[in-house]
This record gives sequence, C-alpha cells and structure tokens, in this order.
Amino acid sequence: MLDRHATLTVAEPRTPYQLTTTPQLWLEVLVDRPYPRDSQEDEQILTYSIPPYLTVEIGDILSVPFGSQVIGGIALRFIENLPPGLEENQIRPVEDVITKGFFPDNYWQLLTKIAQYYATDLITVVRVALPKGLLRSSQRRIRLKPDAIPPGAEVFCTPLSRQILSLLKNQKEGDYSAKYLQEKLKNANYGIRDLVKRGWVESYLEAPKSTNIKLKKAITLLITDFPADLTENQRKIVEILRHQGGEMWLPELAQLAGTKHFKPLIDKGYVVIEDREFLRLSSAIMSRDQPKTLTSSQKQALEAIQTLKGGESALLHGVTGSGKTEVYLQVIAPVLAAGKSALVLVPEIGLTPQLTDRFVARFGDRVYVYHSALSEGERYDTWRQMLTGTPQVIIGTRSAIFAPLPHLGMIILDEEHDSSFKQTQLLPTYHARTVAKWRAQLNHCPVILGSATPSLETWLESQVNPSLYLSLPDRIQNRPLPQVEIVDMRRELQRGNRSLFSQSLRSSLETLRDKGEQAILFVSRRGYSTFVSCRSCGYVLECPHCDVSLSYHHTEPGAQELLRCHYCNYGRIHPKQCPECGSPYLKFFGTGTQRVTQELSKEFPHLRCLRFDSDTTRNKNAPRELLKQFTDGEFDVLVGTQMLTKGLDIDRVTLVGVMAADGLLYHSDYRASERAFQTLTQVAGRAGRGEREGKVIIQTYTPEHPVIRAVQTHDYEGFVETELMQREGLNYPPYGSLVLIRFSGLDGEAVQKSAENVAEECVNNFGSDWDILGPAPATIMRVANRYRWQILLKSSGDKADIGGLFRPLKSLVLPKVSMAIDVDPLTIE
Ligand code: ADP
Ligand code: ZN
Ligand code: ZN
Repeated sequence: MLDRHATLTVAEPRTPYQLTTTPQLWLEVLVDRPYPRDSQEDEQILTYSIPPYLTVEIGDILSVPFGSQVIGGIALRFIENLPPGLEENQIRPVEDVITKGFFPDNYWQLLTKIAQYYATDLITVVRVALPKGLLRSSQRRIRLKPDAIPPGAEVFCTPLSRQILSLLKNQKEGDYSAKYLQEKLKNANYGIRDLVKRGWVESYLEAPKSTNIKLKKAITLLITDFPADLTENQRKIVEILRHQGGEMWLPELAQLAGTKHFKPLIDKGYVVIEDREFLRLSSAIMSRDQPKTLTSSQKQALEAIQTLKGGESALLHGVTGSGKTEVYLQVIAPVLAAGKSALVLVPEIGLTPQLTDRFVARFGDRVYVYHSALSEGERYDTWRQMLTGTPQVIIGTRSAIFAPLPHLGMIILDEEHDSSFKQTQLLPTYHARTVAKWRAQLNHCPVILGSATPSLETWLESQVNPSLYLSLPDRIQNRPLPQVEIVDMRRELQRGNRSLFSQSLRSSLETLRDKGEQAILFVSRRGYSTFVSCRSCGYVLECPHCDVSLSYHHTEPGAQELLRCHYCNYGRIHPKQCPECGSPYLKFFGTGTQRVTQELSKEFPHLRCLRFDSDTTRNKNAPRELLKQFTDGEFDVLVGTQMLTKGLDIDRVTLVGVMAADGLLYHSDYRASERAFQTLTQVAGRAGRGEREGKVIIQTYTPEHPVIRAVQTHDYEGFVETELMQREGLNYPPYGSLVLIRFSGLDGEAVQKSAENVAEECVNNFGSDWDILGPAPATIMRVANRYRWQILLKSSGDKADIGGLFRPLKSLVLPKVSMAIDVDPLTIE
C-alpha cells in the first residue's frame, strides 16, 4: 500500500502553503445557524483556525464543524487575537473551502467600508446585503472532472478516494451531493479534499431547487398574417397579440380583448397557451422597442457619459420628460454588448412599473427586478442568478446596490435626490448613493445620478468639474413645462368658499371629462392632520403608547370607523362620544386622501375617482393594477400621496392639483425646503406629458413662500442658490456633515442618562472639528412606549474613521437602552 506521500508523484502541482499572505492566526466565519437564544437572527459569527493545508481568502465559502455537524460559512475576517473568553483548545479548524470567488471582486471590501463609515458591525451590513439563508438553502455538491484524471492514475490514490471516484463514475453525470457521499462512506471528506486538491473532482454550491416557482399562463401567436377564417372577435385577439409583440400573459390578453374564449384559435393552431415561470419573464413577453434617435442634448449627454472614467460620477440634470430614461437605455446597451452588467436603482419599484416596462421592452429577459417586496425565495433565486455573471440589467430599490454582479459596467441612480435611498430605521443607516460611489471606485465603473431636482450634495459636486454636469434642459419635442397657478386659500375662505377645492381647481375639474382628460390630485401625507378632536371641549384622541394623535380611517361607507396610530399601528374603534365630556360632536378634522376622494364624489358626482395611497396599495401587485386602470382610462381623477410623485408618465393627464402645499413647507427639519421643492416639482411634472398642454394648480395658505415661488417659475437654480447660502452659513450639509445619535428605551430616565453620558464623552474627547448639539428629547418623545432622546453632531472635518470614533461610545449606554448612530441623517426629528 502506498502512503500519501507517494501519491504526490502523479498529483497535480500541489497548492503551496500560503500562510505568508495571511499571517493572522484565526478566522471569523459567518455561519448560517440561528443564535442559540435569540431566534430573530439567522446567522452568527464563530471563530475557527485554518489548517495548514488550506488557503482561505475573505469571502470564500467554507464548510466548518458546528457541534456534531458540518455546516456552511463565509470567511469574514482574519483576527490576530482570540475573542475574550475563548481558549485556543476550544477552537476547531475549518473543514474545507467549498467555493472560491463566489462573491464579485472587492465585494467584501465594500461591505467592510460600509461597516466602518456607518459605525456598525460587519454582520449588520451582511444582513442587509445577503439574502437570508444563502448558505443553508444551498447544497454542496461534488462533480467528477473526468478529463483531468491521467489514465491509470487512480491506482495511486487512497482507497477512500478510489471509492469516491468509483461512486461518481457510476453516476450518470458524475455528480453527487457531499452529504450523500458522507452517508455512503465514513470520513468521505478526507477523500473529497484529496481529490479536489488533485483537481480530479470539483466542489461547488448548488442553488436550491426552487420550490416556489410561480407559473403563469402565457399565450403566444404563431401566425404572422390574418387568415381568412378568423371571426371578427378572433381577428381582434390576433391584432392585440400582434400589437404586443406576439406574446402576452393570458389574463392580460383576456382583459384587453374582453374575452376568455381562445379555444378556437388554439384548435386552428394559431396560438398556443403554456405555463411560464413568472420570475424569469414578465420579460420575454413584452413588445420590443427600438432606440430612439436622440435629441442633440441627449446625444451630448450620452457622449459625455461614454468618456467618464471608472469611479467618476456625473449628474444628469433634466426636467421631467426631458428624456433621461432614454439616455439610460442607450448608455446601458453598449455595456451589455461588452459582456458587462448594469445596475439601475430607483426609489420604489413597485410603484414605477412603467419604468421597468421600458427597460424590459428594450432589453427583454436580460432585465431582472430586485427589491424588498420580493419573497425570500425570489430574492434568493435572483441573487444566485446574478452571480452567474451573464450580462444583465438589475433594476432595484436601495438594497439592490448590494447586487452581486461580477462584471459591473455602470451604476445609475434615477431620482437620485429621493430620500428612500437612505436607510433610516434600521442599521446600517447607509445611503445607496454613497455606497454606489464606493462600489464604482472599487469596480472601476462610472455612476450616473439622474434627477430633475438634484440633491444639493450632488449639485454642488457636479459644479466642480464641468464634465460631470450633463444637462437636458428641455422636454422632448419642446413640450412646454406645465403652467403653474398658485391659489391663495385664505382668499378663497374670505370669498366664502369653504370647500376643499378652490374656484380655479373646481372649474378645471368640471370640464375635465368633456375634454377627455385626466387629473391627479396630490394630498401631502403631512398636508392635513387626520386627528380626531372634540368640537365641544377640544379633547384630542391620542395613542396610549406614543405621543401622537390617532388618525381617522374609514375604508368605505358602512364599514367600521377606525382610529389608528401611524407610529405603532395601535388601533381602536371610533368612539361615538367624547371620552372627556361625553359630547357627541367628536369629529375628525383632517383631510387625507380619503376625505378628498369623498368630497370629490360629493361635489363632482360625474367624475370617477381612484384613491392611491398606502391603504389602497398595500397588496404587492395593487399599485400596478390601480395605475393600469387609471392609464386605461377607467378613472378620471387619481387622488394620492407622495407615492404619486415618481415616474408616472400618462399622456392624458393635463391637470395636477396640489390640495395643500403647506404641510410640506413647515417642518422642523433643515431639509424641509429642499424636500418640498423636490416633491412639488415632481408632482407638477406629471402634467402635460402628452400632446396636450398641462396645468398645475397649487393651493396654499402661504403663496409668498420662496419654495412656492421657485416651483411656480421652475427655477431650480435660483432655489438652490438661496438654499446653499443658508446651509453654508449654518455649516449644514452639503458643507459640514452631520451624525445623529438616537437613544431609546422603556425607562425614560435611563435613556436620558445614557444620552447625557455619551454627549459628555463627545464634548471631552472629540476634536474641535465637532459641534455637539444636545442631548435633547426627540420631536416625538415617546413611540410605542419607548422614550427617545438624541444628540446631533456637526463636523467640518473628515468622517472617514467615524466607526473608530463612535464605537467606544457603546460602553457608556445603560442596560436596556439602545443606541443607534445615523451617519449623514436625512431627517432630524
Ligand atoms: P424623463 O426620464 O426625463 O422623465 P423620458 O425618458 O421618460 O424622460 O422621456 C419622456 C418621453 O419622451 C417618453 O415618452 C420617451 O419615450 C420620449 N422620448 C425620450 N427621448 C426621445 C427621443 N430622443 N425621441 C423621441 N421621443 C423620446
Ligand atoms: Zn369633549
Ligand atoms: Zn402608537
């Protein structure tokens, strides 16, 4: 019997021990097993040693011992010292490296940078970046590489390796799960390792068989002409199908054609119906469209983008309807042609089906959608397919910035100013735009930031270098921007108009239907309070757990009237009488989308109104369906909140009404004006995108407000100039930078004390670069019974090592108080 050394004479060159590159002794591994006590978390970090025969790099997928099992893990970090409480003899060695290069280049560098900058742990970043159960649901498999085995060489192997080879050879594909081999052969792992080292077999992770592939019926047209034997109805069906590129989802065709009677067409062999996988394709099925001939400013922008260097980011500043999306499409086409992928981040994908559809129409099944509304399984499947590296376009919301695309050629943020790109409630409090820039630098690809109303940060940066500022100043076909009329609601009241609708809005609504046009009425979420109060004694119904008033909810006539807390979701039935004085005049004062819709139907019974807000769009597919009904002309007026500001492009919308702009303007936040300007401009931009001219009516109680003025004259630059001056004076972003430390807990005193401790430490130990404001109670001091305090820090210096500065503060926080650090906060409330 030959010993193991003898086998080296015929083995593939053996990988040298690479301890030189990794002088550290210990390895932290993210394993896919729940914490023993806290079942909320799905992973934990454990420490292992690296056996001398293994070369491990960060990001490698490993198998590691865990209790009596062997489980999957990701190599996270090398450490020189063992964590406190761990002894060397408790540490077990990594079992094996399953896959190298599973993650794209520099992926772990990116995650580490995020953890540092946002002052949080790597594991916290990993949790937002990677889909849950990435490892658990995958299977390690072993595959024979028959061509790599020199003839007759097997006799030199150990008996164990030979047994494995023979098992694999007897399997049709030469492929078994590692688990199966381990069950068949004792210590199979040693044999597998030996064979992998020789290069005779390979070990890989197999994606789980999707158990929940959604199938949906699709119908495909098989003919290109109109045969003579078609009835009129059948001809109509064929026409619709042709118009849609020959393929459609069955339910959609049924709806458009107004029939479900397709059998005669099937029988004649003109169409087929088959099940298709839903994830893969809303795609294959849409009509193809061709690149448009660019306008001269689009062309200039495109050319400028093509000369951008890796890591550079440019602002594409174009009013709504100026053709930014067309530029994105034409920027991406050559990226795909070069075998690379593109990442397109948008604010809220479920709400912009139109945008997705345009990408699919251009690039077909190379487009994938990735966002948080996907089920865990769908996220996982999309993730795994991204890793394959085939050229593709990923359209997604904030967290798609972590899409593991190996050959990334371009990152685009559409509506880059949108606040949904920043994660605020959970850690890490990352901003997708900041992460995009880092990622672009690591992957040497450009970033395009598109907006009609760029954030002040982006605006200021693009002014430094003219080649980074690209402008599309006009709407396509020189369609004029809509005319904006400001209505002073105080004067309406003086004139005796107590309705929600000003005289001007009223007369525009009256003629709407006759002209065959549509309107959008925008109700700012904060525009009206929806609280319920007693008209006799003034008592206001409040949430018992939060310091806020309850909101009135009423879904349809006859339904139960409810009061709900928007912070903690506490709900109760609307009482008939005032709990304080017994008066029956307990009314809700406010006016949200609900109230506007009700008033509309009362005052304009001939108008068909559709309400679009977080109540009516809760269901995953609802936004799309509601918008489709509106686009198809089933309704005349769409009433909605901020959700409506994004990306809607409907030809027949000629009128946009803003019910009360004031709620946007007044706000304790330093960004209130910027946000109000952006929102109002976006809303106004929904009008007049088609052939007909658009009109915007803004109702307000403060018509003289500078933001209102700037919106009326479409004067972005004027607005920015004034706003920047104010920010500079106070050293607010984009000049100085902010960090907000938030404290919360059930014990109010402990929360306050913790905040004071931390503030004191900051005052004593942070340099003169830092201004420390607070501690102070948050605007709403109690939410869901938790007390909230905060400290605001303002800095004019470098923030690169914020993590190092802030991490030690954790020790000053009292038990049961939580501290969250928000770097570059967008709201300070
Ligand atoms: P934005 O993204 O800036 O709002 P879009 O790209 O949606 O603008 O363009 C507005 C409209 O003009 C769309 O219907 C689009 O198809 C059309 N469009 C864009 N570029 C061109 C072009 N070069 N020629 C003709 N139509 C165009
Ligand atoms: Zn009362
Ligand atoms: Zn509450």
